[in-house]
Amino acid sequence: MNRTIKQLEYGESFIERHIGPSAEQRQQMLEIIGAKSLDELTQFIVPADIQLPHPPATGDAQTEHQALAELKAIAEQNQRYKSYIGMGYNAVLTPPVILRNMLENPGWYTAYTPYQPEVSQGRLEALLNFQQMTQDLTGLDLASASLLDEATAAAEAMAMAKRASKLKLANSFFVAEDVHPQTIDVVKTRAEAFGFNVIVGPASHVLNHSDLFGALVQLTGTTGELHDDSALLQQLKQRGVITCMAADIMSLVLLESPATMGADVVFGSSQRFGVPMGYGGPHAAFFACRDEFKRSMPGRIIGVSKDAAGNTALRMAMQTREQHIRREKANSNICTSQVLLANIAGFYAVYHGPTGLKRIAQRIHRLTDILAAGLQQKGLTLRHQSWFDTLCVEIADKAAVLTRALSFGVNLRADLDGAVGISLDETTTVDDLNTLFDILCGDHADIDIDVLDRQCITQSQSIPAALLRQTPILTHPVFNSYHSETEMMRYMHRLERKDLALNQAMIPLGSCTMKLNAAAEMIPITWPEFAELHPFCPPEQATGYQILLGQLSQWLAQITGYDAVCMQPNSGAQGEYAGLLTIRRYHESRGQGNRHICLIPSSAHGTNPASAQMAGMSVVVVDCDKQGNVDLQDLRAKAQQSGDELSCIMVTYPSTHGVYEETIREVCNIVHQFGGQVYLDGANMNAQVGITTPGYIGADVSHLNLHKTFSIPHGGGGPGMGPIGVKKHLAPFVPGHSVVQLEGVITHQGAVSAAPFGSASILPISWMYIHMMGAEGLKMASQVAILNANYIARRLKDAYPVLYYGVDGLVAHECILDIRPLKEECGITEMDIAKRLIDYGFHAPTMSFPVAGTLMVEPTESESKVELDRFIDAMLAIRSEIRRVHSGEWPLDDNPLVNAPHVQGELVHEWNHPYSRDLAVFPSQAVFHNKYWPTVKRLDDVYGDRNLFCSCVPVGEYR
Ligand SMILES: *Cc1c(COP(=O)(O)O)cnc(C)c1O
Repeated sequence: MNRTIKQLEYGESFIERHIGPSAEQRQQMLEIIGAKSLDELTQFIVPADIQLPHPPATGDAQTEHQALAELKAIAEQNQRYKSYIGMGYNAVLTPPVILRNMLENPGWYTAYTPYQPEVSQGRLEALLNFQQMTQDLTGLDLASASLLDEATAAAEAMAMAKRASKLKLANSFFVAEDVHPQTIDVVKTRAEAFGFNVIVGPASHVLNHSDLFGALVQLTGTTGELHDDSALLQQLKQRGVITCMAADIMSLVLLESPATMGADVVFGSSQRFGVPMGYGGPHAAFFACRDEFKRSMPGRIIGVSKDAAGNTALRMAMQTREQHIRREKANSNICTSQVLLANIAGFYAVYHGPTGLKRIAQRIHRLTDILAAGLQQKGLTLRHQSWFDTLCVEIADKAAVLTRALSFGVNLRADLDGAVGISLDETTTVDDLNTLFDILCGDHADIDIDVLDRQCITQSQSIPAALLRQTPILTHPVFNSYHSETEMMRYMHRLERKDLALNQAMIPLGSCTMKLNAAAEMIPITWPEFAELHPFCPPEQATGYQILLGQLSQWLAQITGYDAVCMQPNSGAQGEYAGLLTIRRYHESRGQGNRHICLIPSSAHGTNPASAQMAGMSVVVVDCDKQGNVDLQDLRAKAQQSGDELSCIMVTYPSTHGVYEETIREVCNIVHQFGGQVYLDGANMNAQVGITTPGYIGADVSHLNLHKTFSIPHGGGGPGMGPIGVKKHLAPFVPGHSVVQLEGVITHQGAVSAAPFGSASILPISWMYIHMMGAEGLKMASQVAILNANYIARRLKDAYPVLYYGVDGLVAHECILDIRPLKEECGITEMDIAKRLIDYGFHAPTMSFPVAGTLMVEPTESESKVELDRFIDAMLAIRSEIRRVHSGEWPLDDNPLVNAPHVQGELVHEWNHPYSRDLAVFPSQAVFHNKYWPTVKRLDDVYGDRNLFCSCVPVGEYR
């Protein structure tokens, strides 16, 4: 690569840091595959009719320091006002011990969703803490391991209420009018697709409605009023209506648990437990319900089970509810959720403990009382008599007060009629109170805070006695043991060491694109200029974000060949849902609202049918042929049968089978011919960037998993971002937002996420990635991803048959190894190989997706030849082990494969296996030098689901 003198400033090119194999190694690998160059390899593999004539114009590659400097200048255009806007978002003091050891630690943020529990016990324990915390604060029996945000949690609660309610004919969902507006917005969007009727009104009117299957109230209303809805909830329950309650997590420390009041479902945001606002996200929603609804619950649930040795071990429970198995009958489409953020919130509770949390919550409430007393003393009127941390202050000349606030660098809530809202938080100080008095009561308000404080302490009635918490919280030892920084640091490290993340070894999960999450990409997300902004702050304070969003959207439009990008969806599956709604609204706008059939090839990811169902579509499955390609004849037949009811197809490209289907353009043409739209699932964009684009192929809309192709780390199961790209004709129909006016789109369309730009604060990661790679590096990344996958396929094909090839005996960016013949031959399964890989120090490939009995390997471009060889050697060594089982040397029920993974504990016991301890745990030289020790043996899935237990385990039960 020839660089100008200017380009050589600020250090070395990032491209070669991101790409694993060196130029020389790439040449060696190309030779083995039989191609002269990366370009020639691309020519062989990618169908000629979809190869781009010109690469997308995403600019020149920047070095790490150049890009950081440029982004810093952009970040500085954001203005850091102090926001008292509230509405579910509050400023926080992230404990530095958590910031450094978790949020900034690749041992935590580069892990994958814990599908392989034996290498995930650390984050599973952290998530179990989050669930226990949720159970304690809500008072309910069962909690999930995070949802995407408070508003989508509300939509999930509504959908669950419909599933769980025995009133099968009821079709209405009531929402109290003082639920946060963005929550109402997202609930309405979801209800419209399902055909539910949403009634918004005063909570006291709920009993007037007879058609309800569920009702939603908010414990502390959006303007701050506290509600004791016990009587109402009891009556609703008597009628069989499912009662849902949104709750502020900090208020729950002081307020009685919603379960005591009679709520069946409780949810909210855990953001203010240590997670910065970040202009809207990412944050984890908590979600809890009564035990009887466990089969209807959305999202992941961590459960306690046993391992093969009978020891306590954790795993994801009841996965059969999820979309991978249930498809369009799944409870929700949630795949990636918010694990990293849930863990931060859980650790915030661990670090502060019940006493610390109470101190924080009481202090916030005490400051609010003082503020209220001072304002009243000066003759101002408060709209409500009760509050936790939020006051609604009646103001005649609102504009003047808001302008004054701005001159003090302060944001108040501005969207209320004749009033302003003020929400205090754990960062609020006495000085801040003085500023607020100055803003609201005029300069030198002359208020003696100490006097007010003394009055408030003895006389406060702002929390009605009936609402004060009596039930204890966080009594489990985990919340009462780690309050010194040393203990906390070690606890987090102890959990981290149980897990296998990218800082230990490659994670070759097919369809997941576990590439490098570079340090330079990660650094900006904790810059206060990005982290501290409130999502509903005045837009002129977020100029930096607008520049970031604008540039990133433009680049992504270039990379996808689309005309517009919508940044709202905060996961891939949310992107699917948003994209399908966009298609639905487009058809409706043309008077074709009857188009409701969504064609989905049988090989599709489970989120596709689950999202189609959520968008109110009917799924029709299209067959695949023996080579794994969409069967064109079947497609044509089904498109024709659907007639004027055809809405769209959802197709993944390259296919989930890991090949570039030659007929993709024809697939698009057929669907268009019958009046349908083409949704192209962008999860496999890592094999397209710079080579082809969904737009060029002929698709109309796609989501991008920024947490796959565009370097956002997977966080152990989230955060993610799933923006959608659309062609011009669909652009007016992408999601809007009820609180923030979005530019360039028709904003009447309902929102799909709580925040207008989804998880905005992690977008700098993808911005950095694209900018540091430049057009040249991005294309090369795709090419090397293809190279690495073909190198593995070529070297493993004699040991494990590769299930699907494209035309030239080559694969795309991943390959499927067929384990079924081995299973038939000698009884060893894909599961045994996956678990044995742990002994060799590797995370397993994707198991049994998209084909049962297979392993799908995706190395990504970031893995070096050394690491690929180490993986290949491990797979070949395992193949020889299988031979020894086949030959009868080792019995099928006692060999290193079926007994894998091996843990330290069993080495010190009597050893009576037909293979050595040495072979068990040090099967290769590489392992000897860098051993990853799993802490549990293989999980017992059946036991876990039969004996569902989803709370923290009493300490004595751990052996
Ligand atoms: C990962 C993936 C999804 C879902 O993305 P999430 O961000 O996990 O919701 C959808 N389709 C395919 C093919 C995927 O690999």
